[in-house]
Amino acid sequence: MVVEPKVRGFICTTAHPVGCEEIVKREIEYVKSKGELSGVKKALVIGCSMGYGLASRISLAYGMKAATLGVMFDKPGSGNKTGTSGWYNTKAFEKFAAADGLYAKTINGDAYSDECKQEIIEIIKRDLGKVDAVIYSLAAPRRQVGEEVYKSVLKTTGEPYTNKTIDLRNNAISEVTIEPATPEEIEATVKVMGGEDWEAWIDALKAADVLEDNALTIAYSYIGPTITYPVYYEGSIGRAKAHLFETSKKLCEKGLRAYISVNKALVTQSSAAIPVVPLYISILYKVMKENGTHEGCIEQMQRMFEEISSGKLNLDSEGRIRMDDLEMSPEVQGKVSEIWNSINQENFKSCADIDGYWKDFYELFGFGVDGVDYTQDVEV
Ligand code: NAD
Repeated sequence: MVVEPKVRGFICTTAHPVGCEEIVKREIEYVKSKGELSGVKKALVIGCSMGYGLASRISLAYGMKAATLGVMFDKPGSGNKTGTSGWYNTKAFEKFAAADGLYAKTINGDAYSDECKQEIIEIIKRDLGKVDAVIYSLAAPRRQVGEEVYKSVLKTTGEPYTNKTIDLRNNAISEVTIEPATPEEIEATVKVMGGEDWEAWIDALKAADVLEDNALTIAYSYIGPTITYPVYYEGSIGRAKAHLFETSKKLCEKGLRAYISVNKALVTQSSAAIPVVPLYISILYKVMKENGTHEGCIEQMQRMFEEISSGKLNLDSEGRIRMDDLEMSPEVQGKVSEIWNSINQENFKSCADIDGYWKDFYELFGFGVDGVDYTQDVEV
């Protein structure tokens, strides 16, 4: 069938298998062009099918020749409904990896569940013996623990917060007021996006003796500028990220090389859902592209593993890996805040890279990719 994008606000309900494959191929080529790295041989990537997790997997496989085992939560196509982009990305990655002699297996299931952890452990025992790296890159709206379902929220804490935002349905700049999360909502967000499940994974892998001593483990976080503090760093998601950071310290005490990597703000399925952030991202893209310092997920993750490979990690005073160094440079942030203060509906097209935002958004679902003929029938 011919597959077209069906966009509803910040989500696209279709995905293009050929476009997704092309993006994965491009990311692989990028990593190959940057040369060989070392340091990881067998990695588990939790949240491997999109965004930072997919970029981590590609960097590990094609930079370090690592065997990769992945966990994702995606849907295959059925009838005339397309699969999710994460599904197509993973099928493409597995196809390229097999052709290049790289081990790549993926479990499609709920990473929060005990069943998924047991299934992964069995595969490691059977195929790999032990893994020496665990990348934790989940971005999920909910987590089920027994009968209880926790739902994460993207709200502020303390006082309601009002600022500019962009309505992605019509590219209109407007004001949004974000209400504070209740204590229960904050607790639920920490349950979903904090470090409890990361620690549960590490504990389960250790107990089954499928984790190398002194293994590397990294989870991803974001800090960003003061403009987005109330909705991110100091919001409900920020509380979860603080918990994730505390968990990294606990994991170090358990003998792992555990890190939080603070990554750059980028268009992914998760970040598109956060109020205020898409407008900030489109201004950031404009400034960083003009500066020649713009990076996507693959550039970020390739650079992070290059630092790991060379032993020259860019750590801050708290021991966090700072991949957001270019985003947070005073020069970039100075320009961003100047634009933020003056941006309005009239000057918006020239002040923000909204076209770049939408290009990245469509590419997440395999659309708008150069060289793909979208008039052709494809197998979904
Ligand atoms: P994403 O939405 O692109 O990918 C999320 C991944 O998690 C997918 O592979 C999905 O299949 C998987 N997943 C979701 N629920 C799952 C479940 N229950 N079981 C198994 N897999 C599941 O997200 P992303 O933006 O790449 O975010 C990954 C991490 O990076 C998050 O911790 C996020 O906070 C962090 N981060 C993102 C940004 C950004 O701007 N996008 C910036 C800094 C840090």
